[in-house]
Amino acid sequence: MSIFGKFAALSARYDRLKQSGADPFSVKFDDILSSVEGVVRGKKTLLFGTNNYLGLTFDEVAMEMSADAIRHHGTGTTGSRIANGSYKVHAELERELADFYRRKHCMVFSTGYQANLGMISTLVGKDDHLFLDADSHASIYDGSRLGHAPVVRFRHNNPDDLAKRLRRLADQPGDKLIVVEGIYSMLGDTAPLKEFVDVKREYGAYLMVDEAHSMGVLGRDGRGLAEREGVEDDVDFVVGTFSKSLASVGGFCVSSLEGFEILRLASRPYMFTASLPPSIMSSTISALKTLRREPERRTKLTANSRRFYNGLRGAGFNVGPECTPIVAVIIDNPDIAVAFWKRLLEEGMYLNLALPPATPNASAFLRSSVSAAHSDEHIDFAIALMTRIGREFGLLPNETNVCPF
Ligand code: PMP
Repeated sequence: MSIFGKFAALSARYDRLKQSGADPFSVKFDDILSSVEGVVRGKKTLLFGTNNYLGLTFDEVAMEMSADAIRHHGTGTTGSRIANGSYKVHAELERELADFYRRKHCMVFSTGYQANLGMISTLVGKDDHLFLDADSHASIYDGSRLGHAPVVRFRHNNPDDLAKRLRRLADQPGDKLIVVEGIYSMLGDTAPLKEFVDVKREYGAYLMVDEAHSMGVLGRDGRGLAEREGVEDDVDFVVGTFSKSLASVGGFCVSSLEGFEILRLASRPYMFTASLPPSIMSSTISALKTLRREPERRTKLTANSRRFYNGLRGAGFNVGPECTPIVAVIIDNPDIAVAFWKRLLEEGMYLNLALPPATPNASAFLRSSVSAAHSDEHIDFAIALMTRIGREFGLLPNETNVCPF
């Protein structure tokens, strides 16, 4: 038995998938032509699974600033933020983010994954309690494992269940931290944040919101779900990423709580890894400015999301419960989902395939993320293609609905 024997079940599942002729985990883009078009196996392919919400990956100013930063500051910092890895641009981006979120403090991490790891594992310890939504992103769960706080899971998007669990621990000493997401990355549903805020207040807990998928997307100014719901003052920590609306890589946490800065010397995923290259900082600063200066991108994204969600729902697909830029088609039979995904790719459309056990209820999702850079023609092409294939697979009853987004 080799050291890899423990992966036998996973290996067998992967082999079965490959035998079906589809391998969603090894798609390679021969070329990327724009924010929404690439080339896969020689075929021009429309990209509907990129998280590139504002369509900024090819923004001319951001690319120029990034190239300039490489020429002036080199390709990498080769060090940690608390050693040789803090340049002026790191501090500048932290200031820009704090200003955008109207908070006093900001820490930039090397990825969004590490931002969750670094915040969650450090904010609460063994004498505290951590309350996680059951559908939390892997980085939130992994942050809970890296830290030492007892973890309490509550039912997805269920403030009553959270309240019940907090009530049970009401007389326990220590801090209580609740973590939820703005838009959930698989189904595209939003957290009932006002209700969570009521619960947080009642039990004197802290609240962290991961706005990875809602930054630049929700709220009049694009600060996310907390802005849209008017509860920013009650959110103690906002975590986010640069890898979606800001079209680069990296993560951050903002807060106005006094004492926050000590985390720079306590958060291991911040301290014990190299900082991001200055080129990334520069393009991210540029993208953040564009996000703030061009709200019309958000307006277009909203319109695109509505067009796509309504189109698929109107065709009879079983879509996620809310209209956001993450549009998931739920397919009960994973084998059909795999075959469907493969057909889409062959016909020139790429989206994400999510399979059990990573999905709830043993169903599979064809997960799209809409971009402001999609044209009406792109969206109509995608709806028509999915409808044609959906009919071939016998998935489509008829139903019409209107998007509430
Ligand atoms: N939080 C959520 C909710 C996410 O969906 C993701 C990435 N998909 C992350 C955090 C991690 O972000 P990054 O890609 O910057 O590591």
